[in-house]
Amino acid sequence: MKLHFIDVILPIPIENSFTYSITEAESEFIKPGMRVSVPFGKRKIYTGIVQAIHNNQPLIYDAKEIHQILDDTPIVTETQFQLWEWMSSYYMCAIGDVMRAALPGAFILDSETIISKNMALEINVADLKDDEFLIYEALQHQSSLKIQDISNIVDKKNVLPLVKRLLEKEAIFVHEEIFDKYKPKLVRYVKLQNKFHDQDALQVLLEELSRAPKQREVVMTLFSLTARSKKPIPVSDLTTASNSSSAIVKTLIDKEILEEYHVQTDRVQHDDQEVEGSKRLNEAQEVAIKEILDSFENQNIVLLHGVTSSGKTEIYVKLIEDAIKQGKQVLYLLPEIALTTQLVSRLQNYFGEQVAVFHSKYSSNERVEVWNQVLSNSPKARIVLGARSSVLLPFHDLGLVIVDEEHEQSYKQFDPAPRYHARDTAIVLANIFKTKTLLGSATPSLETYFNAQQQKYGLVELTTRFNDVLMPEVELVDIKDKHKRKRMKGHFSDRLIEEMTETLADGHQIILFQNRRGYSPIIECETCGHSPQCPSCDVSLTYHQYRDQLRCHYCGYNSVMIKKCEACGSVELDNKGFGTEQVEKEVSLLFPDHKVARMDLDTTRGKYGYEKIISTFENQEVDILVGTQMLTKGLDFRNVKLVGVMNADNLLNFPDFRAHERSFQLLLQVSGRAGRTDKRGKVVIQTYNPHHNILQQVSSNNYLKMYKEQMDDRYNFKYPPIYRLIKITLKHRDYNKVNVGADWFAKSLRQVFKDNVLGPEFPPVSRIRNQYHKNILIKIPSKQSLAKTKASILKINSSFSSVKDFRPIRVILNVDNY
Ligand code: ADP
Ligand code: ZN
Ligand code: ZN
Repeated sequence: MKLHFIDVILPIPIENSFTYSITEAESEFIKPGMRVSVPFGKRKIYTGIVQAIHNNQPLIYDAKEIHQILDDTPIVTETQFQLWEWMSSYYMCAIGDVMRAALPGAFILDSETIISKNMALEINVADLKDDEFLIYEALQHQSSLKIQDISNIVDKKNVLPLVKRLLEKEAIFVHEEIFDKYKPKLVRYVKLQNKFHDQDALQVLLEELSRAPKQREVVMTLFSLTARSKKPIPVSDLTTASNSSSAIVKTLIDKEILEEYHVQTDRVQHDDQEVEGSKRLNEAQEVAIKEILDSFENQNIVLLHGVTSSGKTEIYVKLIEDAIKQGKQVLYLLPEIALTTQLVSRLQNYFGEQVAVFHSKYSSNERVEVWNQVLSNSPKARIVLGARSSVLLPFHDLGLVIVDEEHEQSYKQFDPAPRYHARDTAIVLANIFKTKTLLGSATPSLETYFNAQQQKYGLVELTTRFNDVLMPEVELVDIKDKHKRKRMKGHFSDRLIEEMTETLADGHQIILFQNRRGYSPIIECETCGHSPQCPSCDVSLTYHQYRDQLRCHYCGYNSVMIKKCEACGSVELDNKGFGTEQVEKEVSLLFPDHKVARMDLDTTRGKYGYEKIISTFENQEVDILVGTQMLTKGLDFRNVKLVGVMNADNLLNFPDFRAHERSFQLLLQVSGRAGRTDKRGKVVIQTYNPHHNILQQVSSNNYLKMYKEQMDDRYNFKYPPIYRLIKITLKHRDYNKVNVGADWFAKSLRQVFKDNVLGPEFPPVSRIRNQYHKNILIKIPSKQSLAKTKASILKINSSFSSVKDFRPIRVILNVDNY
């Protein structure tokens, strides 16, 4: 008799997949891509993905039996396996790391999983099987249960299938960071009671209401709205159209003239507006789209370099239309923050229900929903609009990939592994599907522009804004000079104040950009110079006035603001530097009659965090919006005429070889928020260094000059895109251990890579959460084989961890470090 085995990928960072034995009957049923629950180690249970089915008994260990098959059909596709393999080898991580990043938490239950009752949904217990009921009941008394507890309650070992059933019934959810609790979105509708559907009855009613003209108006309006369209009428539409209030509607409901009802709208859906045709492109856009299509004839990747507000999005829309007409799926990648209702409803206007949205603030259940729709090639997920991790969805027949704002560094995942770049991964994904990728940006990354110059990518340029609005006028204000001449009020120069006053007088809005949050990043004693530091990290604590706290931006440590110096006891404490909180405060003092809001990490927590701020600004309930780089990402505000950059210098002085490129991108992007519709916008940049090349290039909107100059540096100093980089970080809480380990590691690397090894070096913040960090950088010339390079690094890494003293040191490999 033949023995049957499966290779299973487990969601943990181990190098190899694991082999388990299965029965003959199981072997006929199991297919790659299905989930199985399996024992691992002494006590653990994991959900794994079947990668292969075979008859080869493992030589080193006895294959254990699986516990259970969890799926009837595969949930992971063949192409996903290809992508996972690529990611794991390219980014030097375990395939299990990729699996964990790809699958929604609810898909990979294990013995450590914690579940809770879903409070949002009333479950009919009659629908529950006996064992399901036992668990559901236990959750009435306990807020959460571990898988082990469930095992005890039902007195069974293999409970994952049971948990899975409860998840599918939405009786429970997997415990995770919960943002706003999901509430089914109920829309209130009204209709006339049936008895008034008859003409005569309605006539009588209207006569009766002649003494209540407001109520009569509501009924008349409802009647005419209903006559115009068969669609249900939301209460809000009715009150607007009849110019009445919901109180009057309520009276009519109480009098049993109107009837109200609720409809639960689909969970992962925003507005249910009517679909409209896409816009007619202008001439420049027409030319651009023709060039893109021509370029796609012999290029797989095209860069659309179009200035801010040139109408790139409308071009994407046309290309998406073509792709879905051919029955294909489309992936549209965006930085997290740009994924707000602004763009979502813009696309839903064109494509209605065919748009599915996917981002990290979604709950596991919502992600499962999108996953299943993409997997089943549902018409509800023709177009996936998503942030980084949406490249990992189970696409079927992908026909186009769009990466908008391709220069955004948030496309690169920092931690944990896989430390992948979503743009580059999306290109690989498109290749697997033999389809095309369009990268779009007003300020392309040097990497991408270099590839275009090398003719590895096609290049299409759009140099004018839509409607021929001029690019905003940029004014550089020398604040050193302004300080000297006493022309500053707080952190505002007279020029900025003048421009603000004028803009507000014209009824326009203002964006103020400051690259730091909090009130002040350093508190310093005027007597002895001491400044409070984080106990676990090597950074000074930022003062947050709103909570009267000192906070560490690296580890989250916080304490009450000190009243006197911890060192000498002096009460003379000074603020050094300033953050968004302080700007907000100063603005409200300077312009007390105008509304100010702030958008930064502190004000945008929660699922709808950004949405709320963005929509109040869009609705012009706020005149001045103060914020960090969040403001720069592809937002389209129609009434903003002025952008103020409070201080450009701390961007430019950041210790990183990409600092200048990034400053250019950030400043140009934030400037691009000004004057997007008709009148020319204005940008005021305050700086101590108005002659800085980057600022000059920003003010003349000269991307090419920036590109050439930065590329010279990259050539000279052997940095990307000329060389590739792999960064190795060693971490441990013992300073000496990190030092000795890093020296050993670097020395071994130098034997192979000679001068192309830099470091080891402590980064500017060398201790975070009590762990010392030390970095080694490997520069890889384009002619050197990447595969061989990685193989050597892995070999050195495994000798490193075989040294007993070094084993506790964490080693992090970061390929294409951004
Ligand atoms: P980008 O993506 O390049 O920043 P957008 O696509 O957001 O630019 O376009 C800027 C503005 O111009 C948007 O408000 C958009 O609706 C409008 N717009 C762009 N193209 C057209 C068009 N062909 N017809 C009408 N309006 C357009
Ligand atoms: Zn002091
Ligand atoms: Zn800290």
